[in-house]
Amino acid sequence: MKLNIILMGPPGAGKGTLAKQLKSEFNLAHISTGDMFRDAIKAGTELGKLAQSYIDEGHLVPDEVTIGLVKERLSNKDCENGFLLDGFPRTIPQAEALQELSKEIQRPIEVVINLSCDNNELVRRISGRRVCKVCGAPYHIDSAKPKIEGKCDLCGGELIQRKDDNEESLKVRLGDYNLKTKPLLDYYSNLGLLKSFNSLQGKESLFDEVKLFLKS
Ligand code: AMP
Repeated sequence: MKLNIILMGPPGAGKGTLAKQLKSEFNLAHISTGDMFRDAIKAGTELGKLAQSYIDEGHLVPDEVTIGLVKERLSNKDCENGFLLDGFPRTIPQAEALQELSKEIQRPIEVVINLSCDNNELVRRISGRRVCKVCGAPYHIDSAKPKIEGKCDLCGGELIQRKDDNEESLKVRLGDYNLKTKPLLDYYSNLGLLKSFNSLQGKESLFDEVKLFLKS
């Protein structure tokens, strides 16, 4: 079974949703650098202040900051049973740092799951995305409505639109994805670790496919 996993794909491909499903199925540590930055922003830490200026504009947070954050997190005890990296690495230097680190701590990356999705669908998903302010659960204004408008089904928290889920930031994020993150597909393919899935299918059938693959 493969349990040290990287989830890759453009913004809106469904990494966060799949990560939550896999986390509870296999009891894995879910490491989302985006969530870690958003928590730091909420808490008003120095890291949060630094990250906010990049995130709000849709730019990537500098490599040295992001790598430092993941280094600390991956050494935690809860990663012993396996981990899911969601949104990291996003650049070649991040991937190289991760290769070194994962060897050092003897938790090698076993598989890279790539979610592919077409551009129009990404724009539709991101522009209609809403998230719970309290627990982070994802919704969509057309295709994943909550039972009560504006309220999270799970915890009753307020649903909000992420500041960086607007058209301008999305353009920058997709541009950065194509330029800086897409080359990682070749990088991991050359290491024999890449497995791609079509994320246009429903989230339950995608989860079933990935589950089957991980167990094989
Ligand atoms: P996400 O929730 O994964 O979409 O991430 C939200 C934002 O956090 C991104 O648009 C970046 O500004 C920042 N971020 C998250 N992960 C990384 C990373 N690996 N490298 C640089 N910036 C990141």
